[in-house]
Amino acid sequence: MTEPLIFELSIPGRKGVRLPELDVPESELPADLLRDDLPLPEVSEVDVVRHYLRLSQLNYAVDKGIYPLGSCTMKYNPKINEVAARLPGFVGIHPLQDELTVQGALYLMYHLQEQLKAISGFDAISLQPAAGAHGELTGVLIMRKYHLDRGETQRDTMLIPDSAHGTNPASTSMSGLRVVEIPSDARGNVDLEAMKAYMNERLIGIMITNPNTLGLFDENLEAICQMVHEAGGLVYGDGANMNALMGIMRPAEIGIDVMHFNLHKTFSTPHGGGGPGSGPVGVVAKLADFLPAPIVVKEVDAEEEAEEEAPLYTFYDPPKSIGRVKSFWGHFSVMIKAYTYIRMLGDEGVRRAAEYAVLNANYLLSRIRDVYPLPYDRICKHEFVVEGRFEDAPGVRALDIAKRLIDYGVHPPTNYFPLIVHEALMIEPTETESKQEVDRYADILLKIAEEAKTDPDLLHEAPHNAPVRRLDEVYAARQKILRYRRDQQ
Ligand SMILES: *Cc1c(COP(=O)(O)O)cnc(C)c1O
Repeated sequence: MTEPLIFELSIPGRKGVRLPELDVPESELPADLLRDDLPLPEVSEVDVVRHYLRLSQLNYAVDKGIYPLGSCTMKYNPKINEVAARLPGFVGIHPLQDELTVQGALYLMYHLQEQLKAISGFDAISLQPAAGAHGELTGVLIMRKYHLDRGETQRDTMLIPDSAHGTNPASTSMSGLRVVEIPSDARGNVDLEAMKAYMNERLIGIMITNPNTLGLFDENLEAICQMVHEAGGLVYGDGANMNALMGIMRPAEIGIDVMHFNLHKTFSTPHGGGGPGSGPVGVVAKLADFLPAPIVVKEVDAEEEAEEEAPLYTFYDPPKSIGRVKSFWGHFSVMIKAYTYIRMLGDEGVRRAAEYAVLNANYLLSRIRDVYPLPYDRICKHEFVVEGRFEDAPGVRALDIAKRLIDYGVHPPTNYFPLIVHEALMIEPTETESKQEVDRYADILLKIAEEAKTDPDLLHEAPHNAPVRRLDEVYAARQKILRYRRDQQ
């Protein structure tokens, strides 16, 4: 980077603000709160503006172009979501306020629960979990408590297909349960034969991602649910991929018992970079009493009697609740954005978003499938996985292709995941990209495949024109430098 960072622009005495006239008595700053080891830059307003604008331009974002990072559903987030989340009536309230004074916020939470029920078919929803993986942990704890409540304390085994997201085994282990990996069959479905050995009194259930991380709808899903139920187990649905299904299929109707949503993926909230997410959990009726407390309910009596003192919407603690999983009421700003998104789309729009997500993925696949090897040759859902390697360019790997995409000013797909595909490139264009943008991405991928044969070093040395060149990824992960350090330039 050649442009100076804000700390390097500091000139003693330079200022960017003018403070108003002092209208309170002057007093000394408490000496023990002043830090000598915190040298703040002294800069002008224009220095600050240019610093942040430059920083923002070093990043890639979905507001800049297509971001087909498989599994992450990086759809464009409509700006009206932000407008709603910034309404003074929402940002100005406090979680400790009396329920009667925040009925608007509770109304929104209640109706978001109702929207998610309608989309998924579940009987009850908790909005508390902070993100997808947190929703998984919540769901697994609910499954565990359900069995314990029935006195089936010997149940300790969770089945997890090898096409699952890495968070699934992690959530299960954190719940103190045993993970058994189930292989996929030649069509990319869960191998039913391999499941049979575990259909016994130790079974907690199965965690199944559908569509799975290959972007494929499991053709045996109903049979899997039936098999697990017959053995007394429960079926956990990883709902992170609801973008392919919303408005089309309700997971509860096919036999899923508990599922988390990723509001920040499916229902369009900016994510990545550690921003707030939200991972609500939906359950069928027999699990409703175990949901984390509290959930929002509507007091029907209050409506009928129209008493001004009684709140219409109120918090409710399910009787056998696993307890709290989050302080206060969850990530409310994300709930506002998801609610706004669903209301703006309406019933028909929600369905159409899923249809276009699937159409875009299949269209992109059709454009590149003769060049990029396709290990599971099926119609995909909202994403697909190809191999990033070519027979006639043996030295080129998926990583080289991903880095070369950066040179063309677009975001690479997810790579080396799922683990069951060699040199995996997992591509999810999402519904918000136009045919022209999807075509542009396909053209770039095809051009890179050509380059791989004619000039492989171009790929090996990519990226050439990004703010940073290729990193030593292991070193970068071990030696993180996450803030400016004056002495380590
Ligand atoms: C993203 C994702 C998760 C985890 O969600 P987070 O919000 O990142 O915790 C779980 N499963 C699948 C299939 C995902 O794509």
